Amino acid sequence: MALSTMPSMRRLAYGIARAAGVASRRLGRGGGTSVPGAVLLRLRPNAIAELAGGLQDGAACISATNGKTTTARLLAECLEQDGTKVLANTAGANLGSGITTVLLARTDERFGLFEIDEAALPALADALRPRVIVLMNLFRDQLDRYGELETIADLWGNLVRDLPTETALVVNADDPGLAELGFGDREVLWFGVEDTRHALEDVPHAADARRCRRCGSGVVYDAPLLGHLGHWRCESCDLARARPVVAASRVDLDGVHGQDIVITTPHGEVRSRLALPGLHNAYNATAATAAAIALGIEPQVISPALSATAPAFGRAERVRLEAQDMLILLAKNPAGVNQNVRTLLLEDGPLDVMIGLNDRTADGQDVSWIWDVDYEPLIPRLRSLTLTGDRAYDLGLRFRYAGAADELIHTQPNLPLALDRATREAASGGTLFALPSYTAMLDLRQELVRRGVATEFWRDG
Ligand SMILES: [Zn+2]
Repeated sequence: MALSTMPSMRRLAYGIARAAGVASRRLGRGGGTSVPGAVLLRLRPNAIAELAGGLQDGAACISATNGKTTTARLLAECLEQDGTKVLANTAGANLGSGITTVLLARTDERFGLFEIDEAALPALADALRPRVIVLMNLFRDQLDRYGELETIADLWGNLVRDLPTETALVVNADDPGLAELGFGDREVLWFGVEDTRHALEDVPHAADARRCRRCGSGVVYDAPLLGHLGHWRCESCDLARARPVVAASRVDLDGVHGQDIVITTPHGEVRSRLALPGLHNAYNATAATAAAIALGIEPQVISPALSATAPAFGRAERVRLEAQDMLILLAKNPAGVNQNVRTLLLEDGPLDVMIGLNDRTADGQDVSWIWDVDYEPLIPRLRSLTLTGDRAYDLGLRFRYAGAADELIHTQPNLPLALDRATREAASGGTLFALPSYTAMLDLRQELVRRGVATEFWRDG
């Protein structure tokens, strides 16, 4: 091929990809399509690197099993309040084709902020050449999709070893699975939660146990905080939690209403009132703060930005129903649901709860993880319990084993009927708590929109 024909070949590829996007929208496949990106990557495998070159202020990548969507929102708000126009993807578009589609749609944004699927991170980081990479956590999640967590940790280890030195690495010190990835002499901006008033008595489940990545022995915890996250050390070798440079030194949880958080950084303190409840969101805010610091944003900009961030769709989103409020807490894996349960237990009075469980591809087809959730403490606090979704009966069995009385358990796989029942049973003027799995959340959202109670189009899956 003659060199002079290259630009026109390139233009042609981009033209075809954009046309594919228009065609796919006309076919009614929705705004979240990844079709243009998929088409472009077939024609030009190097397209992500080409397109990312247009981001004059660079990019940041965030990866995790839990919390990347919310952390990306928190960081986007910091960047926007710092005067940077941000191009960002959503949870539904966190693979190569989705990110390419987002890059194709760029107008005048100068900075790219990407939440990225754990397994896809190494290849995408290589193409995007981000200024900052945030490694947040690896929880047991959708194991049927990837196999072992160790495999992903090893993939991340390869990524870290090959990374250009100018890329800043922001890593969760409280996750023993992220220690010893192969950082060598590289500087790591460690973040973590220092406030041990929220420590649990023990790591809740065998599934959360972690082995030392250096010597293979089990790690022990001086302060287990959230699943396998906490203040940990290996008893056999000297590997231990790194001292976080950006640390949540004070976390005052306020039930489902939010929390007050103080985060220490090398440039001063960040003090925020978060609209996001639960210790998991303290981790998200601390991760976002560390990334913002790595990008040169000052604490006085970060503090109000964290406070101004509204919950992502389905992540502590509040919807006004006829007789009460509904608070939607995404429930996609044991660590996340245990956090939701802990947050609900901080509420006063009896609780009205609806739980939805599907086993579609986006949920993970293996629903046995519900046996790793501590639903037990919830049971004495329940006024009403409605179980719904494709696997409602699995939930029914789980609650029966947890010791719930038969008359408390109401199983209704049909979501609209379950919603009718749950709202009828819930206290007037109170809050109905909904804990749906990912696609159950999409179904719930669709039903709420159909009923005219939720009108805002969701933009953050
Ligand atoms: Zn060890």
